[in-house]
Amino acid sequence: ALAENTHGFVGADLESLAKESAMIALRRFRPELDLEADEIDAETLERLDVTEDDFKKALRGIEPSALREVFVEVPDITWNDVGGLEGTKERLRETIQWPLDYPEVFEQMDVDSAKGVLLYGPPGTGKTLLAKAVANEAESNFISVKGPELLDKYVGESEKGVREIFSKARENAPTVVFFDEIDAIAAERGQNTGDSGVGERVVSQLLTELDGLEELEDVVVVATTNRPDLIDSALIRPGRLDRHVHVPVPDEDARRKILDVHTRDKPLADDVDLDDIAARTDNYVGADLEALAREASMNATREFINSVDPEEAAESVGNVRVTMAHFEEALDEVVPSVTEETKEQYEEIEQRFKRSE
Ligand code: ADP
Repeated sequence: ALAENTHGFVGADLESLAKESAMIALRRFRPELDLEADEIDAETLERLDVTEDDFKKALRGIEPSALREVFVEVPDITWNDVGGLEGTKERLRETIQWPLDYPEVFEQMDVDSAKGVLLYGPPGTGKTLLAKAVANEAESNFISVKGPELLDKYVGESEKGVREIFSKARENAPTVVFFDEIDAIAAERGQNTGDSGVGERVVSQLLTELDGLEELEDVVVVATTNRPDLIDSALIRPGRLDRHVHVPVPDEDARRKILDVHTRDKPLADDVDLDDIAARTDNYVGADLEALAREASMNATREFINSVDPEEAAESVGNVRVTMAHFEEALDEVVPSVTEETKEQYEEIEQRFKRSE
């Protein structure tokens, strides 16, 4: 019965539960004891029985840490860490940063500030990175919620989870609330199969929270999805997540900039031609290019360690460089994660969104 009532508890929560039950049992058994100060003798401990009732009482006072720990952070990602995506950055700056920085201007000019932005595009194109960067640049707090986790961790309590997230966001405003993979919870009603309506209840709660956000209340929602076609249309209507921003697969110029980001701290040999690599990495997304750079460094590292006297490794590493050959090897290993077809699908969706806006 206890196991059934402790959905969403992690090990540490169960430990607290066990301890708290023991304390309750002790208080029941020896009410005259000052638990903080008095020594508890061995005989008392021996005769102590923790009953189911004690457990139940303890349970009422303990929240699963998933609910307690709505984690507020200030990300350390800046615009400089995001390669390419100039148009997207500009749009996010206007919709999120400006209303926070210039509330009077927005009011005077009678421009509606956004409550929510939906970033959509294939996985690994930098959506999370963008959300973190805009929170950092706007000097906002950041609460990150992963769609699937919201359902898993808060089993049976997902709506409460949503309420809690928004109340934390208001407490800590200005806050960017980031819903990653929102399609996991906000699929069009009826599309949620086998979840007995949890998705629907969470979407309703989310709508309530979005509708309740006062303009310029300094809480903005940024949601991401790689399945924009699945999102409940109520959620992306005006006044809600109504700014829809495509985060595309990078073109050659953007790939060059992303490669810059991921090689700037690496010791590159003179023969490394990043322009050439950018030209040859069609269909690679940001995450693929990061993997490519990482793999190239690893190739250089492996070659070096295999060839050097272990005693001298630390001294001579200063001369080691990542060469074009290491990148060539990496290019054979790291393959692009999208296809022409994927790109076209997202472009079509972009057109559809534009028509409906
Ligand atoms: P998404 O949220 O779109 O799935 P992420 O933002 O999580 O993608 O990207 C995963 C990783 O790939 C990032 O941590 C980063 O290292 C790299 N990456 C993706 N896009 C870019 C980009 N535009 N510039 C620099 N790095 C990128």
